[in-house]
This record gives sequence, C-alpha cells and structure tokens, in this order.
Amino acid sequence: MSEPADIVYLDANATTRTDPRVVEAMLPYFSLYYGNPSSKYGLGGHAALAVKRARERVQALLGAAQPHELIFTSGGTESNNAAILSALEAAPRRREVIISAVEHPAVLSLCAWLEKNKGIRVHPIPVDRQGRLDILAYREAMSDRVAIASIMWANNETGVIQPVADLAELAKEVGALFHTDAVQAVGKCPIDLQSTMIDMLSLSGHKLHGPKGVGALYVRAGIRFKPQIKGGQQERGRRAGTENVPGIVGLGIAAELAASAMADEDIRVRGLRDRLEREILARVDHCVAVGARAERLPNTSNIAFSFIDSEAIITLLDRAGIAASMGSACATGSFEPSHVLLAMKVAEDAVRGGVRFSLSRDNTDADIDRALEVVPAVVAKLRAISPFGVDDAPQAVGRSSGSAQGTTHV
Ligand SMILES: *Cc1c(COP(=O)(O)O)cnc(C)c1O
Repeated sequence: MSEPADIVYLDANATTRTDPRVVEAMLPYFSLYYGNPSSKYGLGGHAALAVKRARERVQALLGAAQPHELIFTSGGTESNNAAILSALEAAPRRREVIISAVEHPAVLSLCAWLEKNKGIRVHPIPVDRQGRLDILAYREAMSDRVAIASIMWANNETGVIQPVADLAELAKEVGALFHTDAVQAVGKCPIDLQSTMIDMLSLSGHKLHGPKGVGALYVRAGIRFKPQIKGGQQERGRRAGTENVPGIVGLGIAAELAASAMADEDIRVRGLRDRLEREILARVDHCVAVGARAERLPNTSNIAFSFIDSEAIITLLDRAGIAASMGSACATGSFEPSHVLLAMKVAEDAVRGGVRFSLSRDNTDADIDRALEVVPAVVAKLRAISPFGVDDAPQAVGRSSGSAQGTTHV
C-alpha cells in the first residue's frame, strides 16, 4: 500500500478526508468542553450551545425554516432508516412504499426487510439508460396506500440527479410523505428546502469533509415523527442517546465550509471531472461514461469498461496508488454486477466493468494527470490477458449477433 499522502484519492463518494479545520474545531469537545449537553451546569451548557450552533449551520446549508427541523443521527444509514420506519408507523393504514431501483443499500435492504417481514408492498421505480427515474411509473405507483416515497437526490455510483422537488409535489397530492436520501447531494448541490415540499432529507457528515458516524435527518415542522431509538429526551425526544458533541460540532463546521466553497468548487471540480472523463473516453476503446447525458453531480464519473472486471481494474489502480471503486460497497467481494448499472441496462459486456471516479475539493490537476497516465495502461494490460479479449469478444461472450464495437458506445 502507498503512503496515504502519495495516494491519488478518487473515491470521495465513499468517504472524504475530514477537513483539518473541522478536526481543529472538534478537538476541544473531547478534552476541554467534554460536558454532557443535558447537564445543567456550565460545562454542559457549553456543549449544548455548541450543538445549537451546529444545528443552525446545517439549517443554513439546507435552507430549512427552523433549526429544530434537524435531528442529529449517526449518519446517512440511520437517517434513511428513521425516515421510512417513522412514516410507516405514523400512517399504519398505508402499507406501501415507493423507492427507486437505484437507491443506496441503506434504503434497499431496509425495504427488502419490510417486504419480507412486515408485509409492506415496495414499488421500486425503474430508471432509464441515463439513470433518470421513470416519472410515469412513479405516478402510477402513487396512491393513498403509499406511506412514503423515498427517492435519492443524487446517485452515489453515477452522480445522476433526480427531480426531487417535483417528485415531492406528486407525493403530497395523495397525502404521502416524501423523503430524499441527499447524502451525495448535500454540500455539492445548492439546496433550499423552504422552497420545496420535501418532508424529510438525510445527510451524512463524512461525505462532505466532516467526520464519520454523524449525520442528520431533516423533518419538516408539522410532520409527525415516530422515534426509532427510545431512551432519554435528547433531540426533543426524537433521537435518544447522549449527543455526539464533537461529531456534531464537526458536521456543523463541514456544513459551513461546504456552503462557502460550493460555487467555486462546483466549477473547479467539474472541470477536473470533465477532463478526466473526456480523456479516458478519448484514449480507451470500448468504454462508456454511465449517465453522462443526465443531470449529474459535478464530481462523479462512472466509466464502464467492456470485457474486463471492475475488481481487477480497481486492484491494479490501487497498486499504482490510485483509489477508485465500483461504487457499491456491498458488491465488493461478490461477483454480482452493480444494481445501479443493471437498472440502467448498461451493455452486457460492460456491466461488470464499471469504475466510479469521484472527486472532491482535495483533488488537483496533478491527480488527473496521474490518473490519465495509469487508467489507460491498466485497462490495456487487463484486456491483453482477459479471456474475453477485445478482438474475439463477440464469440467469447457468446453473443448471437452484433459486434463489440457497435454495442459499447451507447
Ligand atoms: C454513504 C451513503 C449513505 C450512508 O451514509 P453513512 O453515513 O455512511 O451511513 C447513504 N446514502 C448514500 C447515497 C450514500 O452515498
């Protein structure tokens, strides 16, 4: 393994480096201001005030109307679970849930469990070849039997953005709640919750240069919320357990930094991403940028390479000091192709070759230069030894008609 400092880190959608300014702001809350926010003396009051400030910072980033619309949680997974479970509990006669086929495992596995164990009917709405939700199918699934629709703001594997404000309005027409997993969008896209009808939104600290193990769930004022963790009266009785004060402080600073850097970073990171993607497509045959014609996050590029496996690519990239991933943590170690690329009907010879490059404010032009030296070489090397080599690909994959050339550049 390379020393961390030498790594070209292109896996920001998996996690980001905690910003040094965030770390610095957190430190006193471990050792100096370690009080419990619920304690009535000064040390506790100091911690409570820090939590209050952090809540206001997250509120500002989201354009929420009130600070107490935010509940601090342990991260994106908990926020997603809390939103969906609360909605079902609050409307016991509504036994259906709408999601997209490309949700994060935090939503998908919960819904599979609800279907199997609680008799909940789940509608996974398909996406088109660019990863955009099928709005007609969404409308058709929507009824007064639906407790909640949960559609991600931006996809973690492809960066494709869904029209969540419009989707929320359609849910409100039948009295269903609308939740969005915005873990990948927060800090990268401008968000103004007050101008939407979104009822609940999940975010996670470590995806926006904050610490791991802390996040938040936005719950619009007036929405009935059913706590999933029972205990003390923290978070106004909505999420029991002593607050993760250092984590919450860190999340607040990360939110403030994201708000002030977003416009500039959008342009700079988008430029880096576009150059990386354009040059890989120019230098490597038989690959496609997945979802590139849809509205996308500025930092994400998912490239599907035909005839080779993403695991092999990622292993060789790692040996060359480049960190990238398949995009779905749950698929690592298994030989299942990504559920996102499958849902987008990526060509059969490329669906196992998806590599996600995801950038952040930490990346530089030099990182992209290095990736552009390594990626084409790695792909060429693997294809040279691949049993499904490019030259004999149509026979090797047993396709009945059509050439490899014709099917990969979609
Ligand atoms: C990372 C991620 C999550 C999970 O967040 P954690 O804080 O790691 O639990 C959920 N949804 C999306 C889209 C993500 O990218």
